[in-house]
Amino acid sequence: MEHFINNGDGFIQITCYFCFEPFEVNLEVSSESFFKNSEIIDCAICCNPNKIDYEVEENCISNLLVTNGND
Ligand SMILES: [Zn+2]
Repeated sequence: MEHFINNGDGFIQITCYFCFEPFEVNLEVSSESFFKNSEIIDCAICCNPNKIDYEVEENCISNLLVTNGND
């Protein structure tokens, strides 16, 4: 599992699937005890679409996978 930074308010740093540069994204963090979500966010550097699948447990992003958003 890739290491990622989660400061608790939904802002985390991910590594772009396409250019491998790190950039910050703001993901929805629900007050629900557990939920799964998927978002497509364009890279801040190369503008390619990164598909971000993640899980939230008690306001903390617990699991995150970055894949190709063009699929
Ligand atoms: Zn990129």
